[in-house]
Amino acid sequence: APPLDLAGDRGGFASLGPAFFTRLDPTPLPQPYWVGISSSVAELLDLDAQWMASDEALQVFTGNACPVGSRPLASVYSGHQFGVWAGQLGDGRAILLGETTEGLEVQLKGSGRTPYSRMGDGRAVLRSSIREFLCSEAMHALGIPTSRALCVTGSPAPVRREETETAAVVTRVAPSFVRFGHFEHFAARDMQTELHALADYVIERYYPACRTAPQPASNAYAALLQAVSERTATLMAHWQAVGFCHGVMNTDNMSILGLTIDYGPFQFLDAFVPGHVCNHSDTQGRYAYNRQPNVAYWNLFCLAQALLPLIGDEGVARTALESYKTVFSTNFMAQMRRKLGLADAAPADGELIDAILLLLAREGVDHTIFWRRLSHAVARHDFAPVRDLFLDGAGWDRWLLSYSERIAQTDKAQSGDLMLKTNPKFVLRNHLGEQAIRAAKLGDFSPVQTLLHLLEHPFDEHPGHDAWADFPPDWASSIEISCSS
Ligand code: AMP
Ligand code: MG
Ligand code: MG
Repeated sequence: APPLDLAGDRGGFASLGPAFFTRLDPTPLPQPYWVGISSSVAELLDLDAQWMASDEALQVFTGNACPVGSRPLASVYSGHQFGVWAGQLGDGRAILLGETTEGLEVQLKGSGRTPYSRMGDGRAVLRSSIREFLCSEAMHALGIPTSRALCVTGSPAPVRREETETAAVVTRVAPSFVRFGHFEHFAARDMQTELHALADYVIERYYPACRTAPQPASNAYAALLQAVSERTATLMAHWQAVGFCHGVMNTDNMSILGLTIDYGPFQFLDAFVPGHVCNHSDTQGRYAYNRQPNVAYWNLFCLAQALLPLIGDEGVARTALESYKTVFSTNFMAQMRRKLGLADAAPADGELIDAILLLLAREGVDHTIFWRRLSHAVARHDFAPVRDLFLDGAGWDRWLLSYSERIAQTDKAQSGDLMLKTNPKFVLRNHLGEQAIRAAKLGDFSPVQTLLHLLEHPFDEHPGHDAWADFPPDWASSIEISCSS
């Protein structure tokens, strides 16, 4: 059986040279155990199921043994945190093992201190590792661009947070973990050669169209900025439509590929509260749900600033960012139409969408349950279960009237079908993650695996698992998730 085979230095991130990283091995953890494995990511990496079950794999993904061809490294980056320049950061607890022949980078998170750990211990706790693992796979199944997660392993090694917890390691996978902050790092230090090399590397490997077809931007670097801007806009449309709050949208957590990365205090909305802040440390509400599209745009200005020496002209850089707003709203509208079962566009759709979001917000209706019930209602021609979600029945009736007129023009069966494939039954609500975490802490990993299975197929009904798709229990609102993880 072929174990994990990493390309090492064959043209991957490491080929950028020593200014970009420090070589070092993960720090071993004692008595590792399996917490969860994603078999679909294992397949993606061409990993044999039997090898994945082996002790060798357990040691590799805990950072206790080196995979074939791997020369591990931690990369350096900088960034803006909560709107303030934070200076040098870097992979403080992540180590890149290398790249597979399929061009996927494999990274361990929680694998020990690095030169970029600052005051941190280089570790991740079991709780946050399970959350990252489950959410990565949940987002992928929802069709949202994201890093993937192969597995989580745990260790009894103590990790001090607010309380003493235990260590865990997530193995995450993406074509690249390059962040906006990587560019900001070299720009802030006026390291022009490295800045150029990084941009060329990203263009050549991930955005080749920017090199060959720089129109309408006037050079390849402006084209890169525009492409990143548009991918980020698309990502924000996904997040807003599904009700995902990231929680820490610092520029060092923004993927140059427009992927969701660095899962921390994220949350899927329970009640639709537009100003919801999921990160307990975010006292100003900078990263509130309804601010995410604007924050991403602000972050893109930081990226633009960093790329300015390469782009050469501020006006050109500004122009490259211009499409963000239209790409976001076009994509968001398209997603909302799908959520409403509308296969085509009509001029009044904007009003219809604004009106239902207003109604949901006014009553704090459960976001996921509302859209799922609406999907069934259209499929079954029975809107009573949706009406039950509102205290203001008259307000709902008024909206339903305009929606009914709009949807009268469509094929109901087709609309219902589209909606059931767009509006998930299962999302990773905080309390579901919490229940799986509590069981895992007691040594029972079956809820992690069950939840993974549900989240891998979020549009299926999964008879017998309705409790996992229900309203959050009262105690859910007392779960406090902060940056400390
Ligand atoms: P985050 O907000 O989790 O993306 O983290 C911001 C920065 O702090 C990154 O550079 C992380 O690598 C670093 N960091 C976070 N937690 C730790 C930790 N426990 N040990 C070392 N570095 C950390
Ligand atoms: Mg690479
Ligand atoms: Mg981060």
